[in-house]
Amino acid sequence: MTDRTATTPLSFTVHRHSQPVASAERAKLLADPGFGRVFTDHMAMIRYSEGKGWHSAEISARKPLLLDPASAVLHYAQEIFEGLKAYRLADGSLAMFRPDANAHRFQQSARRLAMPELPADLFVGAISELVNLDRDWFPSVEGGSLYIRPFMFANEVFLGVKPSAEYLFLVIVSPVGGYFKSGAPAVSIWVSQDYTRAAPGGTGAAKCGGNYASSLVAQAEASRHGCDQVVFLDAAEHRWVEELGGMNVFLVFEDGTLQTPPLSGTILPGITRDSLITLARSEGLTVREQPYAIDQWRADARSGHLTEAFACGTAAVVTPIGRVASPDGEFKIGAGGPGQLTSRLKQKLVDIQHGRAPDPHGWVHKIG
Ligand SMILES: *Cc1c(COP(=O)(O)O)cnc(C)c1O
Repeated sequence: MTDRTATTPLSFTVHRHSQPVASAERAKLLADPGFGRVFTDHMAMIRYSEGKGWHSAEISARKPLLLDPASAVLHYAQEIFEGLKAYRLADGSLAMFRPDANAHRFQQSARRLAMPELPADLFVGAISELVNLDRDWFPSVEGGSLYIRPFMFANEVFLGVKPSAEYLFLVIVSPVGGYFKSGAPAVSIWVSQDYTRAAPGGTGAAKCGGNYASSLVAQAEASRHGCDQVVFLDAAEHRWVEELGGMNVFLVFEDGTLQTPPLSGTILPGITRDSLITLARSEGLTVREQPYAIDQWRADARSGHLTEAFACGTAAVVTPIGRVASPDGEFKIGAGGPGQLTSRLKQKLVDIQHGRAPDPHGWVHKIG
C-alpha cells in the first residue's frame, strides 16, 4: 500500500511492510524488550545529494542497507546521531519529549562534521510519521517507551578525504524497557586515567559515533574494575570532571544547591541536562554550571558537603551515582543509594514526560 502525506515540505512516500511481525510474536518481544535489541517494522529515510538537496523521503520496511565498500562513512566516520523517546501519556496517546531540541542539536552536530543540516520540520516530521505508523510496538512492560534513533552518514563512493557529496538520513525505533541491565538503584563509576573523551577544538559537543568509538576502551576498563560506567576528566589538565560516556553529571550539596560542568565545547549539551536545570531553577534551586575537580569531589564526598550525585541522559533519564572508583581508591556518595533531591527531580521530569504533570515549558509533543 502506498500513500502520501504532506505534513512537511518534502512529502514522505509510505510503503507499508508486506510481512510485518505477527502480533503474537510482537507481544512476546514487547514483554521484555531490554534496550536496543528489538526494532519496529518500519524505518524512515531521506537522501541528500550535493546540488539536489534533500530528496526521496520515504517510510518503508526496516531492512539491511546496501552499502558500497568505498562508502565514505566506512573509512572516515562522517556520522552523527540522536536519541529521544516516545512515551505513553495518561490519556493513552503517544508523545515525544522536546524533539525540536534534538532537531536543533542534530543540525549543530552536522555543522561540526561538515555535513548538510536537515531542516527541523523534516526531522520531527520523519519521526512523528514513523512512530505513528509503528505505534502498536509500544512496549507493555512497566516503564517502557519507544527509543527513537535518528542518524545520518556519508555515503559517497569515494576514498578521497573531503566532506561527502551524498548522505543518508535514517530513523529506526526500538521498544525499550529499562536501560541498565541490573536495574540498580545507583551506579558505580570509574574515573578514567589514561583516556579522555574530547579535547578543546574536538568533537565533544557533537553527537557523533566517533566519540563513542573512542570511549569504548575506557568503558571496558571500567567494567574490568567492577564499575558500571566510566567518567571522563578534561583532556588538558586531567582534573575537571566532564561527563560519562553517554550521560551528563550533576552534583548535589548539603545546602541544597546543584552543580554541573559547563558546556565548554568538550561536553555534549544534553537535553535531559538542560531540562533538569530548568526544572530545578524554576523551583528556586541554585544550579551552578561550573567546573568541578575530581579531587574536590573526593574531598566533598568524604566531608559530607556533597550529599548526592547523578548522571542523566535520554536512555536512562536520571541515574544516581553511588560510588566513584579510581586507582587512588574509591569513595561513596551519601549512603550510596538514590538521594532525595535526585529522586524528586527525576520524578518531576518523568511526570512531565508522561503527561502526569503540567507542561509549562511546552516540552511534550503529541504524536498523531
Ligand atoms: C546523548 C548524550 C548525552 C545525553 O543527552 P540527552 O539529550 O540528555 O539524551 C550526554 N552525553 C553524551 C556524550 C551523549 O552522547
